[in-house]
Amino acid sequence: MSNNLNYWAVVPAAGVGQRMGSACPKQYLSLLGKPILQHTLEKLLQTNVQGVVVSLAAEDNYWSQLPTLPRVWTAPGGTERSDSVRHALEKLLTFPEVKPNDWVLVHDAARPCVRVSDIQNLMQTVADYPIGGLLANPVRDTMKRADTQNCVTETVSRQQLWHALTPQMFRLQLLYDALTTAAIQGYPVTDESQAIELMGYSPVLVSSHPDNIKITHPDDLALAALFLQQQNNV
Ligand code: C5P
Repeated sequence: MSNNLNYWAVVPAAGVGQRMGSACPKQYLSLLGKPILQHTLEKLLQTNVQGVVVSLAAEDNYWSQLPTLPRVWTAPGGTERSDSVRHALEKLLTFPEVKPNDWVLVHDAARPCVRVSDIQNLMQTVADYPIGGLLANPVRDTMKRADTQNCVTETVSRQQLWHALTPQMFRLQLLYDALTTAAIQGYPVTDESQAIELMGYSPVLVSSHPDNIKITHPDDLALAALFLQQQNNV
């Protein structure tokens, strides 16, 4: 791992989590007695990242209720996840100690079950790649494409097909430029890798433990609690 470059983290946490159907945004729902976002930040802070910038919605009334965590700053959220990430990168770029080639790990607030060992493995593996990479899982099931009536139109080969997870780790300035270009072109990007791919680069996929789920539906909360308990019992 390179010693002279710093590692930073960005956590987009400005979503409303509509699919959870809860009164408060899903990143603030309680999981084993703590808000999901707190679990997520504590995982990142166990690695050697220098600091974390969290993007928050303008109308966020919950952040101030979290305990103060060291090396954590906030930035304004945006309309789309990619806008929230861009704003956090803008904040990082104002820090005098931040260098354009520093690595940044972007991690969803809604993924509190990521293993610290997987983040460290990502950092070590991607350090050997010039562009960057992301945690991912090979697809296990047979994949179908459907029409608007949910009727199958095609079976898609699962060979070389992966689920893209987070963290996604890239050079800070390159990622900022890639997201800015996508925004200017009006190209909707749903993860950092897609923005980098649009620049013509090929990020590397690093296998993740499958318990790195994104809490999306109400049932995911019980599953996430089980995964965290299992991790703590090891
Ligand atoms: O909605 P979804 O689960 O895909 O969101 C992934 C992450 O992006 C969540 O942590 C959410 O809070 C964040 N997000 C954001 N700004 C948005 C939309 C989503 O920071 N405008």
